[in-house]
Amino acid sequence: MTYRAESARRPAGSGRGAPNRTKKADHAGGPLRGLWGRLIMAALAGAAAELAGLGLIAAAAWLIARAAQQPPVAALGLAVVAVRACALGKGVFRYLERLAGHDAALRAQAAVRGGLLRALIPPRPPPSGNADLLTRMADDTDAAVDLLVRCLLPAVAALVTAVAAVGVAAGLLPAAAPVLAAGLLVAGAGPPAVSAVAARRWAARLAPARAALAERVADLVHGAMDLAACDATERAQKAAAAADAHLAALERRRARLRAAMPAMGMAVQGVTVAVIVAQARPVLDPVALAVLALTALAAFAPVLPLADAGERLAEIIAALRRLEEVRAAPPAVTEPADPRPLPAPPYTIEVTDLVVRYAPGGAAALDGVSLTLPPGRRVALVGPSGAGKSTLLAALMRLVEAEFGAIRVNGVDVRDLPSDGVRELMTGLTDDPYVFRASLRDNLLLARPRTGDGELARALAAVRLADWAAATGWDAPLGEDGATLSGGQLRRLALARALLRDPPVLLLDEPTEALEDPLADALLGDLLKATAGRTVLLVTHRLRGLEEVDEIVVLERGRITQRGSHRDLLREPGYYRDLWRAETMRRAPRRAGTA
Ligand code: ADP
Repeated sequence: MTYRAESARRPAGSGRGAPNRTKKADHAGGPLRGLWGRLIMAALAGAAAELAGLGLIAAAAWLIARAAQQPPVAALGLAVVAVRACALGKGVFRYLERLAGHDAALRAQAAVRGGLLRALIPPRPPPSGNADLLTRMADDTDAAVDLLVRCLLPAVAALVTAVAAVGVAAGLLPAAAPVLAAGLLVAGAGPPAVSAVAARRWAARLAPARAALAERVADLVHGAMDLAACDATERAQKAAAAADAHLAALERRRARLRAAMPAMGMAVQGVTVAVIVAQARPVLDPVALAVLALTALAAFAPVLPLADAGERLAEIIAALRRLEEVRAAPPAVTEPADPRPLPAPPYTIEVTDLVVRYAPGGAAALDGVSLTLPPGRRVALVGPSGAGKSTLLAALMRLVEAEFGAIRVNGVDVRDLPSDGVRELMTGLTDDPYVFRASLRDNLLLARPRTGDGELARALAAVRLADWAAATGWDAPLGEDGATLSGGQLRRLALARALLRDPPVLLLDEPTEALEDPLADALLGDLLKATAGRTVLLVTHRLRGLEEVDEIVVLERGRITQRGSHRDLLREPGYYRDLWRAETMRRAPRRAGTA
């Protein structure tokens, strides 16, 4: 089950609809502190480095042209000093620009990452549909670095250099200034704009091709066993190779077009300098001519790479939009603007007329469910698949929002309590538990940090995993989503986590799923013994042992259709009695066979 449910529609002014997380407050200080100062310093240093480069070319041009006229050496002294100063200055300023620019950019990236993680903390519908979505989310935060380092700072430096070069040109030959300005403007705006538009168009073609390849590769890796079992590996490999070839063909065409952009800029540079030389030749002496021509030529150096910046800018804007979509996605439940303190134990949980719908106007997953869990009461929830059992547990854990009705803890509506506080007092085993890519110990410590191995071992013994744990070892990595575990082991490990967590109200979703009958019976027996006197809501599809719980509630198509004790329900016709008979018949031949 995923976590999307229609947001509760509540009366205006109830104050519950407003998310309690104020983004501005979250961002105050932290990585963004000092960002602007560093950015300004980086921009100034970048501009100074480009100006030093321009000065170096102009001074060197003057020096070489003047030296060709064989003046006294003393006449060249100042130019020699200028060349050295500019050469040294260029390196030093470039270093300062990189230092301050990357510092600022990494701070911005940290702030973007932090904001994204904060936005993901309240449970949200997990991203789905795209195999490469999570990778892209991580890559997209790099956009913050590139926006500053590859777009903003180079653009500032190019602008400062262009203004200075046009000033030098105006000083040497006023008629050359507008020509140079026009050339710089065309080279500085044309290729970047064309690159940006082309990048957007190509992204629309390349993204589906990349996603298709990623999905095929993901299928090949994650579905390797099933593909082999169906003798379909070769077909899947061919499909992946075809997706790869399609993407490669598109990328080759894209690369050819991309290579044309610098050529376009250089053509503008060549024409501009040629026009300026043609203008200046009749009127300027050779030394001034050399200085003007080389200054004009050098002024384009920081302008030409802006074509790449334009292309990257288009990608950055798309990346920032994607991040904003993730950030702006509404959380599964809304937090109260002014949360009430958690009530004191013991806890009575009352569910009244609860209606949950996953899509507006869609079928109700829960349709008017009412249930009371007084302290120490154990209730079993039984029903066919899709009846809404996991949805009820998710609603209790504040992972989905109710459309109507209420859940109250000691009379306080859970919508008035912080949702992580609600999850502290009622939580447990979810329907689709996740085992983390970590060691066995770390997976258990997640539920209760700083717990000694003795207690962890007792939790594993309670779910009959002690032998397996002894053979595996505490520090063995469990692989991605428990790849090294069987379905039953994974569930029991998650159950051990829930038992370690030991919340006042324990919610257990199918703890014996994927287990063979004898083990499932034994485990359920252990569980019922261990939870005697505790408040428990147990979802189960096997009925043996349920005579020990206080109440059994049968849920069908989102509604409660039967409730009572095991004996009561066996007496009345309905789902429970049918399921009991089916279970008894299923077990009977085995008993006969083993007798
Ligand atoms: P059960 O636990 O009894 O098998 P669930 O609570 O998982 O039932 O599901 C109840 C209904 O809600 C089903 O019709 C199911 O398809 C639907 N459902 C469950 N999770 C989602 C979801 N994330 N998005 C849309 N529908 C869902």
